[in-house]
Amino acid sequence: MNTNMNIKVVEKGGIKIKNILVKKNPFPAENCTILHCPFCNSDNYLKISSENRKHCSSHNIGYTIKCTKCDATYEGETSRKAAVRAIEHSSDLRKSNPESPLVKHLNLHPDGTEFEFKIRSQFHDALTRQADESVRIQNAASDCLNSKAEFNAPKIARITMKRT
Ligand SMILES: [Zn+2]
Ligand SMILES: [Zn+2]
Repeated sequence: MNTNMNIKVVEKGGIKIKNILVKKNPFPAENCTILHCPFCNSDNYLKISSENRKHCSSHNIGYTIKCTKCDATYEGETSRKAAVRAIEHSSDLRKSNPESPLVKHLNLHPDGTEFEFKIRSQFHDALTRQADESVRIQNAASDCLNSKAEFNAPKIARITMKRT
């Protein structure tokens, strides 16, 4: 045996295993029939949190929309499909609907910003869904995007007891 033989190891470029195994969107739009669904199609106005991608058809959800530039949030809830509500927010942004809290917020960022839509939780009934939203609005920082009216008069009335 010739023990003086040299072995040359050459690393060659090729397709990374990661690129074969990792799908860009692990939850493709299977049977999603919602036109312009921001969860299943890319949307220029609303970024969907990656952990939410598979939930486009979930009903009865609480959600948060966060400005990615300043972290200000909008707290919302809907009995309808997440995608349907997201489309409304997206189309408000596209049409610059002056009533939209997101459009109002955009005025603070002349260079534009991106809003991230994130589902917080799913509920079984309207009462807990709305109570959850009220709590989130009350707990939100002062830069919460929800209107002052919503902040002061939550959908669920609060009863405060005072000791006298
Ligand atoms: Zn969808
Ligand atoms: Zn902002």
